[in-house]
Amino acid sequence: MTTAETSTDTPHIVICTTGGTITASTTPEGAVVAGDSDPATQAMLDELRAVLPEQIRVSARAVIDADSSTFGPAEWDLLVDAVADVLSDPGVSGVVVTHGTDTLEETAMALDLHHDDPRPVAITGAQRPADHPEADGPANLLDAVLLAADPVSRDLGVLVVLGRAILQARGVRKWHTTDPVAFARNSPEHPVEDLPPELERPTLPGRARFADTRVDVIACPPGADAVAVRASVDAGSRGLILEGSGSGNLPPLVADAVAQLADDRPDIVMVVSSRVPRGEATPAYGGRGGGAELANRGVLSSGYLRSGQARVLLAALLSVADQAPADDAAAAVATEIRRSWPKYHLYS
Ligand code: ASP
Repeated sequence: MTTAETSTDTPHIVICTTGGTITASTTPEGAVVAGDSDPATQAMLDELRAVLPEQIRVSARAVIDADSSTFGPAEWDLLVDAVADVLSDPGVSGVVVTHGTDTLEETAMALDLHHDDPRPVAITGAQRPADHPEADGPANLLDAVLLAADPVSRDLGVLVVLGRAILQARGVRKWHTTDPVAFARNSPEHPVEDLPPELERPTLPGRARFADTRVDVIACPPGADAVAVRASVDAGSRGLILEGSGSGNLPPLVADAVAQLADDRPDIVMVVSSRVPRGEATPAYGGRGGGAELANRGVLSSGYLRSGQARVLLAALLSVADQAPADDAAAAVATEIRRSWPKYHLYS
């Protein structure tokens, strides 16, 4: 979709604002409060325009105004729609989303799964509020806009830009609660001396409706029992992300519950992920609760994704498959997702 207007010298970047620390302020008691941020958002945009090369045009669109710890599937839907709507204008060269860092990794994944347009989407935020004497938001926003305006960023999908780091969305996680270098990216295994590979990033065959599809993340620490799994099933979950240990192994009582569930409810898709920050979750170990034994039961592995992004991917696949008119039996949908999971290139 390269037009004379989008390819060149006078890029037009649309900034979708959603609140977060980048426009937050500090109360007299010292609490950082995001939301209700119109004046801070205006000041941020004025400051940006004052330093931006004049050939780059920016306009802003307020989508949400809140702390991202309040976001969930409904907000992901809203943002996917907003970005698609912005990009429906061929005169737009790229999009920047300003967002709280707490749940940025889920939103980035939701956007990237739908983003089959070559134009860049850069998502940024801040660790320090707008009224902090060393606020990091202004530099992050400038970096994100410059990146979104640069043709070199085309075809890379959604990019996370914070603390001078530029990361592809898939595999990204918040890895520090306060440091301005807030995010790191796990990726498929690669030789240590190489840069992380540019990801294969297949997009969805349709539009997911996250708010309609319940997928839960269940922490499975040592000694965990089946209570949380049962509660999640009772609440109507279509999928479970089971966060285990090591390369994706579950404690014995959870493993027993999972084996039972695999027999009783073939319509529920289960994925095992890991609490370990780096590397891939793969079906490596045998024995009760081992990843290989779980795989024999049809449990998928999250690969280089960690629980938050695996949840977004599974919810997206379930939602899109549910909408396919041809075969709407829930068990058939689940079987198709188990078959298609490797297409998302989660393992090396
Ligand atoms: N709690 C904030 C949020 O996610 C943190 C941040 O923006 O950095 O909105």
